[in-house]
Amino acid sequence: MSDQDHGDQAFRKDSLYGRWPELTHGGALSFLRRKYTEDLNGADVAVSGIPYDCATTYRPGARLGPRAIRAASVQLAELKAFPFGFDPFDHLAVIDTGDCFVDSHYPSQVIDTIQSHIARILDANVLPMCFGGDHFITYPILRAIADKHGPVALVHFDAHCDTWDDDGERFDHGSMFLRAKNEGLLDVANSVQVGIRTYNDSDHGFDILSSPWIHKNGVDATIAAIRQRVGDTKVYLTFDIDCLDPAFAPGTGTPVSGGLSSAQALDIVRGLGALNFVGMDVVEVSPAYDVSEITAIAAASIAHDLLCLLAEKKGAVRKPIGR
Ligand code: MN
Ligand code: MN
Repeated sequence: MSDQDHGDQAFRKDSLYGRWPELTHGGALSFLRRKYTEDLNGADVAVSGIPYDCATTYRPGARLGPRAIRAASVQLAELKAFPFGFDPFDHLAVIDTGDCFVDSHYPSQVIDTIQSHIARILDANVLPMCFGGDHFITYPILRAIADKHGPVALVHFDAHCDTWDDDGERFDHGSMFLRAKNEGLLDVANSVQVGIRTYNDSDHGFDILSSPWIHKNGVDATIAAIRQRVGDTKVYLTFDIDCLDPAFAPGTGTPVSGGLSSAQALDIVRGLGALNFVGMDVVEVSPAYDVSEITAIAAASIAHDLLCLLAEKKGAVRKPIGR
């Protein structure tokens, strides 16, 4: 090991591939220690934080989510991926573009700022992976996604359906998917909501895999139902961390009992490699309500495993892990 090839990869490592040793407890933070840069050249995936939480209905604080998820990713950055058995960065070039400069004090600019941030990434043919922020951030992201790809299917992990009444004006993390549907951003016929345990009078055309259904039918049936619903259509995956039970994700704004365990969620995510992803996010991590980084670690793990699915599309091959 030379003096040059360890520590602070986020700023010091030139190649977007591979990794070198870090002090787990020290060094410059980026998501999974990926290069911290706005240069999209050569990148397959651009990670960015969207630190906006003024659309929350109950406990705020998700604006601090991106920072917490980056910090919680340090252990995942050290070893080959489990249970995949490969280093995703041998195959997949991932950068951390930092946080979108979204100024909450100018509400009229919030949607355009986030949409433009994502459009720049999409224009470079790079896949965006965003960390919220509250779930409203997914609405401007979907506007950019639809500009590029047309209406896309949504795979939506959440305790909440987020399709309650919307007048096309409100900043509300509980209604923006109805707004997205009404604006033609979504291919609802191929969209599915996973882990829902709140009531809405209408499903608005989404297929709903409720939390009780998942607990009764299991992970494999859930994966099969998602894959059948989505098929090979272009799909955006959004993971509201409150899909997990509060026992597994206490650090969130609107927790609901009866949710998925982190083990169930990770198993489901790992079964979705066949989907045709055009973007993804993990939202609603609110560190002030977290305990021992439980929620942030779960969020970082879900995002990490999603990256592993993308690495498989670029040639990474799963290895045996024992029984
Ligand atoms: Mn949500
Ligand atoms: Mn939710």
